Amino acid sequence: MTTSAELIEVSERRSAHNYHPLPVVIHEAHGAWVTDIEGKRYLDCLSGYSSLNFGHGHPKIIEAAQEQLKNLTLTSRAFYHDQFAQFCTGLGDLTGKDMILPMNTGAEAVETAVKVARKWGYQVKGVEPDQANIIVMEDNFHGRTTTIISFSTDPDARDDFGPYTPGFRIVRYGSADAIRQAIDANTVAVLVEPIQGEAGVLVPPDGYLSEVRALCSAEGILMIADEIQSGLGRTGQTFACDFEGVVPDIYVLGKALGGGVVPVSAIAANRDVLGVIQPGQHGSTFGGNPLACAVGNAVIEILNTGEFQARAAKLGEVLHTRLRELIGQGVLEVRGRGLWAGVDIDPSIATGREVSKALMKRGVLAKDTHGSTIRLAPPIVVSEEDLLWAISQLADALYEL
Ligand code: PLP
Repeated sequence: MTTSAELIEVSERRSAHNYHPLPVVIHEAHGAWVTDIEGKRYLDCLSGYSSLNFGHGHPKIIEAAQEQLKNLTLTSRAFYHDQFAQFCTGLGDLTGKDMILPMNTGAEAVETAVKVARKWGYQVKGVEPDQANIIVMEDNFHGRTTTIISFSTDPDARDDFGPYTPGFRIVRYGSADAIRQAIDANTVAVLVEPIQGEAGVLVPPDGYLSEVRALCSAEGILMIADEIQSGLGRTGQTFACDFEGVVPDIYVLGKALGGGVVPVSAIAANRDVLGVIQPGQHGSTFGGNPLACAVGNAVIEILNTGEFQARAAKLGEVLHTRLRELIGQGVLEVRGRGLWAGVDIDPSIATGREVSKALMKRGVLAKDTHGSTIRLAPPIVVSEEDLLWAISQLADALYEL
């Protein structure tokens, strides 16, 4: 029988080292639990970076995918197909927006938002050709394309990948004043994560998102909310912007939109914004394909019940209450909303990686970010009992380290 160690050795030898995975080889998964090839079970506390909000193998999502696989998987956008109208209508209704532009990965959807904002700037706002700028935040994470890493402040993401795409201004996250000072006549948009996920689940100060909204409206600038990680139930609301009753001009969505089955991303905006895109100006062979739309339709149906949002809010209370009790016992700070937490480990005890490895030995899969932070984001189907068990494993691991 092939062992985990053998498969890891081959994977490391034959693949680029662009990730640093924990040494576990997963074979199957159901709900919140995964099983490795030796049969050991782990509670998934990462959820594919929030792509698996509804759990591994959610029956409705799998059924939708299987049905669609039998009928039609790809047409390209050269033709219409029978899942497309429902997907655009459903996602439009969920976001309260007129129009949808579907893509595949999160980075592609961010690129789409950037392109739409620029075109809107030239065609609607009247910005001089090639002068548009977009305001972005320090410590952002929006993906890995050359344009997106051009406005990253993370040296690992950025260094030696130049020359960089111009047209971005980086300001401090959490300060509407910093945005105000960066705006000029050529500013077309502010691009913001309502909660910065990869930065360590950083929640901005109360009122920040509403201030950004008001500022963008007053200055005639588009507010673009990257809800790729924060959206679709994770925080206890459909969108993290909902906490402040904020509606951005453009929602950028991905990850959980594909139900953990296929990559599905999209931007949602009103006609006065998304209407600037004409045939031939943007697209993707796989964007909006029948399988993606069928899966997306199942996801939207699930979200429309509100069950997952309510469950993330309820279990989020449990998660945060229990995690806060660990402050002073190896934990320095806990941040987050709903079933999503960034936990700063006391660096004098262990690195985030060491804690993640200790958790793995105890049957909990979590991933570190930025040195001494680990994030916890189990599938929202997790039981309260399993959630409490995972946190007790963290407490014990910190005690032992
Ligand atoms: N935007 C945010 C907020 C993200 O968290 C991510 C991925 O972690 C992305 C964009 C990029 O998504 P993808 O990896 O699907 O390109």
